Amino acid sequence: MRAPGGFGLGQVPERLRPDQTARMVCGFCSTGCSLDAHLQDGVPVNLTPTADYPVNLGMACPKGWEALTPLAAPDRATPPLLRDARGRLHPVSWEEALGAFTHRFKDILAANGPESVAFLSTGQIPTEEMALLGAVAKFGMGLVHGDGNTRQCMATSVVAYKQSFGFDAPPYTYADFEQSDVIVLVGSNLCVAHPILWERVCRNPHSPEVLVVDPRTTETAMAATQHLAIRPKSDLVLLYGLAHLLVERGCVDRQFVDEHTTAFDEFAAFLVDFGPDRVVAETGIDREQLDHVVDTIARGERVSFWWTMGVNQGHESTRTAQAIINLALMTGNIGRPGTGANSITGQCNAMGSRLFSNTTNLLGGHDFAEPAHRAKVAGVLGIDPACIPDRPSLAYDQIIEGIVGGRIKGLWVVATNPAHSWISQGHLHEVLDRLDFLVVQDMYTSTETAQRADLVLPAAGWGEKEGTFINSERRVGLIKRVAKAPGAALADFSIFKLIADAWGCGELFREWESPEAVFAILRRLSAGQPCDFTGIRGYEHLEAAGGVQWPYPADGTADDASERRLFGDGRFFHGDGRARFLFETPRPSREFLRPKFPLVLLTGRGSSSEWHTGTRTSKSALLRSLSASEPYVQLAPADAEARGVSANEWVVVESARGSMRARAFVTSTVRPGAVFVPMHLATTNQLTQAEFDPYSRQPSYKWCPVQVRRPEPWDA
Ligand code: SF4
Repeated sequence: MRAPGGFGLGQVPERLRPDQTARMVCGFCSTGCSLDAHLQDGVPVNLTPTADYPVNLGMACPKGWEALTPLAAPDRATPPLLRDARGRLHPVSWEEALGAFTHRFKDILAANGPESVAFLSTGQIPTEEMALLGAVAKFGMGLVHGDGNTRQCMATSVVAYKQSFGFDAPPYTYADFEQSDVIVLVGSNLCVAHPILWERVCRNPHSPEVLVVDPRTTETAMAATQHLAIRPKSDLVLLYGLAHLLVERGCVDRQFVDEHTTAFDEFAAFLVDFGPDRVVAETGIDREQLDHVVDTIARGERVSFWWTMGVNQGHESTRTAQAIINLALMTGNIGRPGTGANSITGQCNAMGSRLFSNTTNLLGGHDFAEPAHRAKVAGVLGIDPACIPDRPSLAYDQIIEGIVGGRIKGLWVVATNPAHSWISQGHLHEVLDRLDFLVVQDMYTSTETAQRADLVLPAAGWGEKEGTFINSERRVGLIKRVAKAPGAALADFSIFKLIADAWGCGELFREWESPEAVFAILRRLSAGQPCDFTGIRGYEHLEAAGGVQWPYPADGTADDASERRLFGDGRFFHGDGRARFLFETPRPSREFLRPKFPLVLLTGRGSSSEWHTGTRTSKSALLRSLSASEPYVQLAPADAEARGVSANEWVVVESARGSMRARAFVTSTVRPGAVFVPMHLATTNQLTQAEFDPYSRQPSYKWCPVQVRRPEPWDA
């Protein structure tokens, strides 16, 4: 059997010689470090960070150094698995697997219509693969709904940027970390979550003020010059309060605001209600500290604002992200070195997903609802515009509720593990069990979701296939195939091609013959968009340039600097060229603290050696040794004492939805009234509540009322 995608099974592709170094972007986080895989006799033996890549400058975090280890895990999915009449998964051939896939899903669609089968994708596969998945599913199979696990981490930033700037456009380059004189980090534990970016902060020669807004005294907060340990989810009030004081003190860049923005006067009027007394009362920080922060921002000549999941995973997250954007706009801190309103992305290819997954956006950052966009995409792809849905997909949570309501009966999950990672996990487990047919395409058979599947399609992992990722600073970088996938596992690209052929729509994708051929299609799709990268000549260009940031149009207007930012000309992507001030009255979370559940559960990254559900990082003994060996909950000394809890004893953490056992980690790094549990634990999402930001539909993982107590006999 020869797999589509440009190479046969069991061979390193011809472009790599058996003993050479292959330079490729890391497959874990969005930082997008480059790693050099060293091959001996055609087999990768180790990795080192690339010394001259503009992202990581010779550095890598523990995950990068261990990136090859997960490929050798014993629980790799090798043959396809199909659940039999007795409920057991048993090995089948690819032909049988593809037959089951097409027959079961076609039967469901025939009986229930095009909305009855959906897909859930990922930010972990190359852009070429996710574009092919979205195109096959929507243009070939006729599905309407599909979303990605990027909904869990980045949807807020997408919506915030689109509404404020007119396009999903993180404006920065990593050099901004080194050029700022004030760095404001909101809801970001950069030291642990993005350690190489923290190294870039540490290289800043300007002795910057580093302000951290975080309810926890994280590793980053400990290293900061100012830490605003606000009450959980009082960030929106704080940000409006800072804006209020900046207006009051006349620290607004009026020329920039007048020439490049819209609705500032309405915003200033709105801010009247966010005076310092209110901010002090609601955030818990004192007036002196508030004034010091305002002074620092006002005095800064190059202030950069950064945020990540502490903002994105909230019940009013879009407006919170936009409150950060507003601060950058009103002070004119955008478009210049060392400035910006900068969302730091999560997964290695979340940015590729944002542009090319064909879920919320039509391929290339286009709009499904826009007839001209559908016509353009159809023209580039040579397909009938009628094949393209005229509306975006349901969001992830709406797909889940679609299953609950019986509207969606078939689900295809690619390279993600919702049975572990989705909010309110217990509910999701019940929901998945209602499906008529669940297909999981993954590297491993052992994930919680694969264990529930009716059909498992074995996929190659990072290092076993090629394509491109787009990192947080919009840099398109290469990944390469340096190892062969085990058994009958195939690159996701090849699986999507086989599915298209089995479904009967393969002819639509004849030009999509290899990842590099798809990259050429993606370049054409990007033409004329803010993300235009028609000037990238192909994979060899990416290799030679050390990655290329978009935009990079073919019209010769892009410069070849290795670090480029957006909005240097003050023009944004709305039709009038102006950015928008967007704001809204803060509101409480749906669930309230109460005597039964008086503590706020915070979740986040436990250590830099952990990655999300641990599907890959748990395979490395080294990475495991750098993380806690047992589940733990951080709680303040006062809260421990009030409950008679001693350090390191087993306790029960419970919410209205479930409970987990954890070791009590008594520490003053969490404020009284809050507790912290790492997000990687399999049990954490038994506690979390399914609340969503109304604009981005991103889950609110950062707020959940819980209780911590000593175990009772009935807990055993
Ligand atoms: Fe990989 Fe991210 Fe670590 Fe860099 S910081 S080595 S991209 S996991």
